[in-house]
Amino acid sequence: MGELLEKIAKRRTFAIISHPDAGKTTLTEKLLLYGGAIHLAGSVKARKSNKHAVSDWMEIEKQRGISVTSSVLQFDYDGYRVNILDTPGHQDFSEDTYRTLMAADSAVMLIDAAKGVEPQTKKLFWVCHRRHLPIFTFINKLDRFGRKPLDLMTEVEEVLGIKVYPIDWPIGIDGRYKGVYNRLTREVSLFQADTSHGSKQLAVIKGRLEDEQIRSRLEDEIYQTLLDDIDLLDMAGEDFNQDQVNRGELTPMFFGSAMTNFGVQEFLERFLKLSPQPQPRQLQNGEILQPDNESFSAFIFKIQANMNPAHRDRISFMRICSGIFEKGMMVYHLQSGKMIKLAQPQQFMAQERTIVEKAYPGDIIGIFDPGVFGIGDSLSDEKLKLQFEDFPVFPPEIFARVQPKDSLKRKQFEKGILQLSQEGAIQVFQQKDIGVESFIVGVVGTLQLEVLDYRLQNEYSAQLVLNQLSYTVARWVSAENPEQIEAIKGLDNGMLVYDKKDRPVILVNNEWALNWILERNPGLAFLSVPPDAAKV
Ligand code: GDP
Repeated sequence: MGELLEKIAKRRTFAIISHPDAGKTTLTEKLLLYGGAIHLAGSVKARKSNKHAVSDWMEIEKQRGISVTSSVLQFDYDGYRVNILDTPGHQDFSEDTYRTLMAADSAVMLIDAAKGVEPQTKKLFWVCHRRHLPIFTFINKLDRFGRKPLDLMTEVEEVLGIKVYPIDWPIGIDGRYKGVYNRLTREVSLFQADTSHGSKQLAVIKGRLEDEQIRSRLEDEIYQTLLDDIDLLDMAGEDFNQDQVNRGELTPMFFGSAMTNFGVQEFLERFLKLSPQPQPRQLQNGEILQPDNESFSAFIFKIQANMNPAHRDRISFMRICSGIFEKGMMVYHLQSGKMIKLAQPQQFMAQERTIVEKAYPGDIIGIFDPGVFGIGDSLSDEKLKLQFEDFPVFPPEIFARVQPKDSLKRKQFEKGILQLSQEGAIQVFQQKDIGVESFIVGVVGTLQLEVLDYRLQNEYSAQLVLNQLSYTVARWVSAENPEQIEAIKGLDNGMLVYDKKDRPVILVNNEWALNWILERNPGLAFLSVPPDAAKV
């Protein structure tokens, strides 16, 4: 096998999707612990308590109370090179969180056993599901009381509409699980008492159900319950089907505790075997690009503006899709039509940044960007000059009216708003016939509004007046008769605006209002993304 094929086969690039507090930071840290990238767990949490999370590395932003970084953590395990993409939650949730998923080949959906499927998990799930991304489920916090494993399975199936195949089944009773049974290998892992509070790897006894050393450690009742559960799952549950996993139709489910480490290594090992290597990518012209194409290609999925006024540069994060990246190489940037040197490439090994010499499909690198790149831009070998599929537009849920504080600064204000929307930091809408001084901005997380305010002031010397609006839903409108749009009936509590491509969009308070308007305007259709936009 050539170098490229070998590297691709051993790479795994994924994102963890979850609701805040489900344990994403804790699980990430434990994966790093098992990967040998850190030696004692606990360091991430200590950092998190006064700052944000392990991957928030831009000190300056943190001091200013704004953290806008989502990057990648890399470690090696059992011959695999693992790239975990950071998907910011909490107050850091923004469009970047969604866009990061475009760079992943699979997702790990983390669910708190006591809470089940929560709102942010649902949103992130849908973005992955529409892309047919393989999704693996880890039910977390099994060290304490939670819902029954069977109920959690059913909830995922019913709420998210995906088939579930539990691979690791918990052994024991709620809150006091003793180990897991792997339904594919028919192997049992029993966890030994741990005195390190999860800061070290957990000791495990492995064997088969019939083995004396396993059998003798399980009380009769627990043993019998396990046998019954296995029978029930085998008879009434789904069959395991790798093709369905690859298409995102069936999610392998695991149970464990990121805090006590129980089930973490079992999950990691199985996940690495079942999750996909870097996948082919769709091009704008309908063709498919294979990762083992020798020619280099990558796309930009995130742009990180540096808030330090002394270094007014940005870092653009790219996902490599084919070929081999070498430091200092020249690549063709399709959107500007120019050849660009990829100097000073950065990679993120555990908690440090290092300069990369070489990187392969599935890897993420960050490069200093003087302001030429945009979200979704394509970079490639000059021979290829290819263009990846457009990035999807994510429906904004938070809206604000923005105006310049000082009308003499109107020019800078408009320039800033337009450039930041070009960069993908915000979405911009305008009302017709009310003058040009105010814009409506749409975002998916309030952090984006803070960043807008900060950057306009610092980069464009324009102060903002920002009034948040009560709308939470945006829909692109199409109509059989375009005149109908200007005269929509029943929009009393909503607003008609136009996006930057002049497509009509209505903003309303809730889904219920949409139905109300639909009933009064036969012939209208509402779309959650622009009519000609790429599918999420
Ligand atoms: P994130 O917001 O998803 O990154 O969640 P964190 O990893 O910061 O965890 C949120 C809280 O849940 C913290 O207090 C963790 O200590 C706790 N936690 C995480 N995993 C577990 C677990 O497996 N069991 C228990 N009992 N608590 C956990």
